Amino acid sequence: MTDKKITTIGRCYACKRTFAFDPGTVMMFSIDPETGLIPGMTVFGGMREPTPEALARAIDVPICPDCVSKAKQFVEADDPSVGWKRWPADE
Ligand SMILES: [Zn+2]
Repeated sequence: MTDKKITTIGRCYACKRTFAFDPGTVMMFSIDPETGLIPGMTVFGGMREPTPEALARAIDVPICPDCVSKAKQFVEADDPSVGWKRWPADE
């Protein structure tokens, strides 16, 4: 058991839930506070080259572990080459 863990309280960008996290290990997301989106992401969900202004004002926001695992499941389900190939070959 270690008492060295630094815990910070923050609000999850995805679900807006307040949660405690370790800033050294938490998943952070870079967000443009003006749009509330990732720098370079348009309101229509497309991506373009982020402007230097957007990158300069971008802030890091934490994502709670629940949303991280949800996002991972989503990514794995979306890409058939990920996940299925790692299925253990039981012989
Ligand atoms: Zn969340």
